[in-house]
Parts: sequence; C-alpha cells; structure tokens
Amino acid sequence: MRKNIMGVYFHNVDMTQAVDIAMTAVRDKTTCRVVTPNAEIGMLCKRDDTLRRVVNESGLVLPDGIGVVYAAKILGTPLKGKVAGVEFADHLAAALAAEGRSLYLFGGKPGVAEEAAAKLLEKHPGLRIAGIRDGYFKQEEEPAIVSAIRDSGADALFVCLGAPKQELWMDKWQSELRIPVTAGLGGSLDVISGQVKRAPDIFIKLGLEWFYRLLTQPKRFFRMLRLPVYLLDAVIYKLKGGDRT
Ligand code: UDP
Repeated sequence: MRKNIMGVYFHNVDMTQAVDIAMTAVRDKTTCRVVTPNAEIGMLCKRDDTLRRVVNESGLVLPDGIGVVYAAKILGTPLKGKVAGVEFADHLAAALAAEGRSLYLFGGKPGVAEEAAAKLLEKHPGLRIAGIRDGYFKQEEEPAIVSAIRDSGADALFVCLGAPKQELWMDKWQSELRIPVTAGLGGSLDVISGQVKRAPDIFIKLGLEWFYRLLTQPKRFFRMLRLPVYLLDAVIYKLKGGDRT
C-alpha cells in the first residue's frame, strides 16, 4: 500500500480510499495524522531526518503534487495519481458533514479560517465547526491553543501553517491533541476561503498546476526550482538502483 519515493513512503491510494482511511480513524476514535508532501517537501525530507521521520510515521501520506507522481513513475513504482491536499480537505469535510461530525480549522492569516468555515458550511450542510484559530502565534501560546483544540472534541483538525512547520507542530502536540484526524494542509484554507484561486481545471488536468502557481505567485520561483531538482534526483536514484519497495 505504501511506495518508497526516495525515502518518503507514500500511500498508493485514490481520493476515496484516502477519505475512507481518515473516516475509519474518526469512527473508531483512533489516531491518523495526514501529511501531503509535494516535490518541495520530498526534497526537504531528503536532508532533514526529523521531517522525514514525522512524514513516514504519519497514518496517511498523500502525494500532493504532480512532481511526486512523475518521480514515482521514473523510479518504476507508479502511484495511482495525485491526491491534492486541498481536494482531500474538501472531500473529508463532505464525509464529516454526512455524519454530522465536527472539524477544527487552524492556520492562515487572521480571518481566513473564519471565511473558510463559512464556505465549508455553505457547501457541506451538516458539518459542525468545532473551532477556529489563525496560524500566527507565539510559542508560549501553543499550550493554550492545544487545550482549546482538545477541549473542542473535534473529530478532525486541519493544520494549515505551511510545510514543514505544520508537520513538526502536529508531531510535537499529537498526544496532547487527542483528535482522531489531524491533517497538515498548507495553504488549503487560503483556497477554501477564496483568498487564493486554484489553477483552472485545464492546468490541473494537464499536470501544470505548478506552472499556474508560478505565473500567479512569482515569489515562489526559487521554492519551485526544487521540483526539477527532485525529478533529476529521481533519475539519478533510479540509475543508481535505489530501493524499490
Ligand atoms: N501560515 C500560518 N502561520 C505561519 C506561517 C504560515 O498560518 O506561521 C499559513 C499561511 O498564512 C498560509 C499557509 O500557512 O495560509 C502556507 O501556505 P503555502 O501555500 O505557502 O503552503 P504550502 O502548501 O506551500 O506549504
């Protein structure tokens, strides 16, 4: 079920299976940490042992980018396809709503999570919003944030602080949070709230969402250079006969 893409063990699942895994944790009240690495995070994992451990110890590791899907192909361990974090957020919200369950939104600039909550409630009646908190805080505020999240009794938590901050934060507080599903979802609240537009479908279908982001957010240029480097790494890894599990 998991595929090793240069040291990161991705789940080879489609959207339905990913949501099923998360909802099973919600229903059984077990714990499932969800992470959504793209090529950039894949690169960070290569040189950051802690981040790689946190990612690999997660209950669901979703390939959130076409770069990961291409790298998997190059390595001869193809994945079913991309499972975008922002789409997973929406599908999970729908599944939670269908069972009248609750969601806590954490992250983004002040006001963004509120707007995202309003959009989610409009789209998924039945969903309960257990709480909201922006993603800008001092370290000493963290215990109070964690208590508020835990006391909300939410079934799921979106942690949208950007990578790798959100992954490390979830790992640090996992046991105290006691929320079945905690999902690190980067800029998803920006998109759900409508503050940031996702690429038009044609870009997504052609695997060019990264190009659209480059055009609309040129300050990401240097970050995005990690994508071709990641693919080149995959070629080198393959030529060297790296692990294929
Ligand atoms: N963010 C936050 N707290 C921080 C830093 C970032 O809540 O200390 C939020 C930021 O407002 C944005 C998200 O984290 O909503 C990061 O978005 P980006 O698209 O850069 O994340 P990625 O998905 O690329 O990791």
